[in-house]
Amino acid sequence: MSVRVIAEADVYRLLPVADCIAPVEAALAALAREELANPLRFVVRPPGAATLMGLMPAYRGGSAPLYALKTVCIAPGNAARGLDSHQGFVALFDGETGQTRALVNAGAITAIRTAAVSALATRLLARPGASRLAILGAGTQARSHLEAMRAVMPLERVRAWSRTPGHAASLGAEVEEVGSAREAVADADVVVTVTSAREPIIERSWLAVGAHVNAVGSSIPTTRELDTATMAAAALYVDRRESTLSESGDYLFAAAEGAVTPASIRGELGELLLGTAAGRSDDEQLTVFKSLGLAVEDLAAAETVLARALGDGVGVEVEL
Ligand code: NDP
Repeated sequence: MSVRVIAEADVYRLLPVADCIAPVEAALAALAREELANPLRFVVRPPGAATLMGLMPAYRGGSAPLYALKTVCIAPGNAARGLDSHQGFVALFDGETGQTRALVNAGAITAIRTAAVSALATRLLARPGASRLAILGAGTQARSHLEAMRAVMPLERVRAWSRTPGHAASLGAEVEEVGSAREAVADADVVVTVTSAREPIIERSWLAVGAHVNAVGSSIPTTRELDTATMAAAALYVDRRESTLSESGDYLFAAAEGAVTPASIRGELGELLLGTAAGRSDDEQLTVFKSLGLAVEDLAAAETVLARALGDGVGVEVEL
């Protein structure tokens, strides 16, 4: 049995973020139709360790059944080493025989599919005509999210802030670095939060009327980027309810303060796509998409990469 191994640089070359929007859109709609299996992820958190390991399985049946398992180690200190904070691979398995078909670099898949989902959320939820973007954070996800937002909105103005001065400016020539998160989000139509912050970096009163926020950086229960007032005020959308209630610090801290309940979640992105949840009600509403990241997104992105790699003869075949 031979397995196609696809490296980080090849993943980025084969799957521009804009090309990943349709695959994750199809996956999230199929998830809402309950056609895909996506159990909660399993996280290994050794006491005292600064790192963690996540295991994210998914399955799609039908005519070409497929299992995916992302095995990812998250090392928040990696930026200082010049490494991606997300290390590992997405394994794809034939859903009939169980044979391993591919090992795809997980850091690149995570950067691309997360940004593609935020692009989808922005297309579905941002106010029509939105053109002023704020990015908080300047790491891997900030870079892929700039590419993602470019695909779904005209970028009349991009302001960015990051903890370390100089980092935000390195995101791109069109990016204006500002000195605070407050300055970045003032007047912004769309805000992307992609930091490893543990405490809120946004206050409700800083956000413009009718803003849409993609809250991406916190994907564990013990950290958050949004303050309770923002969570309480927002029309809240998620990738998956079950994951939000179990994994989202942005949700769980606000819930512990009595500001939100499961009924506060207006819909999953897949439900918006199916028309079973309503979107933004008017131009003045504050909308928040709380992203946690789902294994079905990894499946969709890695399957697209594998198809392109096979078509273009990219990657290495390894006997397993
Ligand atoms: P990087 O390590 O590449 O970048 C981290 C960013 O967070 C940097 O801009 C850094 O600022 C900033 N930062 C770190 N600590 C703090 C802090 N205490 N306060 C404010 N800013 C801080 O990480 P990634 O870009 O890969 O990931 C960003 C976040 O997104 C992570 O928390 C990650 O777990 C999460 N994530 C979420 C996913 C999802 O599906 N929702 C998927 C993948 C990642 P600077 O360098 O300027 O100091």
